[in-house]
Amino acid sequence: MRRLPKLTHLVLFAVAFLALHVIALRVLAYQATLVTYPFMVLAPLLACASCLWRATVEERATRSPWILLSAGMALWTCGIVLSAWEEIFQHLPESVAWFSDFTYFLYGVPVLLATSSVSAKQRMPFFIWMDAAQALMTGFLAYVAIFSVLPFSDTPLEPISASTLVLTYNAENCILAAAATLRLFAQPRGRERRFYVVLCSFLWIYAIAAYVYNNSAVQTDEHFAIDALVDVPFLFLTVATMAQRWLRGDVEEAPQKQTLALFIENVSPIFYTVALLVLSISLMRQHFHVGTVGVFTALVVYATRSTTLQGRYIRVQRELHEARDRLEQMALTDALTNTANRRRFDEALTHEWNRAIRNRHPLALLLIDIDYFKMLNDRYGHPAGDRCLVSVALALQSALPRAGDLLARYGGEEFAVILPATDEAGAYLVASAMQAAIQSLKIRNESSTGLFVTVSVGAAVFEAPQTSMAEILEAADQALYRAKQGGRNRIEATTQRDFLRNGTR
Ligand code: GH3
Ligand code: MG
Ligand code: MG
Repeated sequence: MRRLPKLTHLVLFAVAFLALHVIALRVLAYQATLVTYPFMVLAPLLACASCLWRATVEERATRSPWILLSAGMALWTCGIVLSAWEEIFQHLPESVAWFSDFTYFLYGVPVLLATSSVSAKQRMPFFIWMDAAQALMTGFLAYVAIFSVLPFSDTPLEPISASTLVLTYNAENCILAAAATLRLFAQPRGRERRFYVVLCSFLWIYAIAAYVYNNSAVQTDEHFAIDALVDVPFLFLTVATMAQRWLRGDVEEAPQKQTLALFIENVSPIFYTVALLVLSISLMRQHFHVGTVGVFTALVVYATRSTTLQGRYIRVQRELHEARDRLEQMALTDALTNTANRRRFDEALTHEWNRAIRNRHPLALLLIDIDYFKMLNDRYGHPAGDRCLVSVALALQSALPRAGDLLARYGGEEFAVILPATDEAGAYLVASAMQAAIQSLKIRNESSTGLFVTVSVGAAVFEAPQTSMAEILEAADQALYRAKQGGRNRIEATTQRDFLRNGTR
């Protein structure tokens, strides 16, 4: 674990920084302009650096919002450097907006992007390009809004008044803070949640500090101790970002997401688009074409995003269906022989039994058992036994005449076949075909039945099923027992009549 500064050290540093700023302003009041700017540049610069540092220690998934926040801090730092330059070297009046104000406004772009960025799990590379397009468009619109001319045009700038600008800032700050708060309500988890806690607190502190500062700064051009207020949000951000306890401890399990939280999470990616739309519409009255381009961009981004998401939703849905089908198939198939398993057999037998009753059709059931299979295993090994089972399953399947017939592995080296609407003669025919198919495999297993693997078949044929389903199984089992007793490699059948007359074996 890296050595990190302790929370108390960080807070002490922040307090010392503030105190130094206030004292410097008091003591060197006559040089206030020169004294105050280094502090006001350093504070956001520290915040920028700490966010960047935080991005490097975060996991990949939670890195980008920190980078975006750091970019916001960098823009703000540029803004204050420009302010210093405008005031110290250019002696520009503070009563109108200038390039520094444009830069301060732009600080909101990466911050709002960080707020509206989708959670790491759903992020798509394509969306980053759309966010970039929106950010560029916002820069363009903000320029036109502040200077009333197009960028790079020869027309002289007509900046808006500082009082209008302060109103805009306050609105921007409130929107940013409210958006981040909403995002926090969406209950992001773990490291993502920590980012939004820091962001949300920072944005509210910033909004309040900016409100107080701007309202007093508009009234006077003098630098007072109030300049130190500018440092506060940035120092807070630096401390919160660097503080050890934010990094420690593992991700707490969030409770089940509520509907509102889910809604906010899904709606947050369009926060930015809505902000762009509002900015564009507010511009339309004075700059109709520019505003229209903005509205168009917002709509295109929105449409592209929703179509992309819809496409992905459909694809995921399809994959889910396919996965479910595959799972279902697996749950009903025997892994070794790839025939139906016992579960599928039970389901099918119930189904066919009921159908036979409804349609008054006969139903035949065959139980097929490999003769002396244990001997084959003992002689040639289990893998050879497995291969034998696979070949036998294939041979049995090849002897099934109708699509409605079902072959299943009943257990061990026993197979079962359901033959719907089949009478005794039909059942014999199928059983004989199966025996022949097995014999033609010529799998070696010397025994009393010959040189090769053979099977014994017990058939049960119920002409008009009406009793309980268990009886047809018992009847087939009785027949198989007789086939084994009678010397194996043979077919025995039990009809419903025999079964009812004799009861048990
Ligand atoms: P019978 O002619 O009376 O049916 O004698 P048998 O040896 O075929 O019957 P028994 O019930 O004595 O032995 C069945 C053997 O089948 C025992 C078991 O190890 C083997 N067996 C069951 N399932 C599998 C399997 O999946 N793979 C392999 N290789 N052998 C299996
Ligand atoms: Mg057996
Ligand atoms: Mg056997």
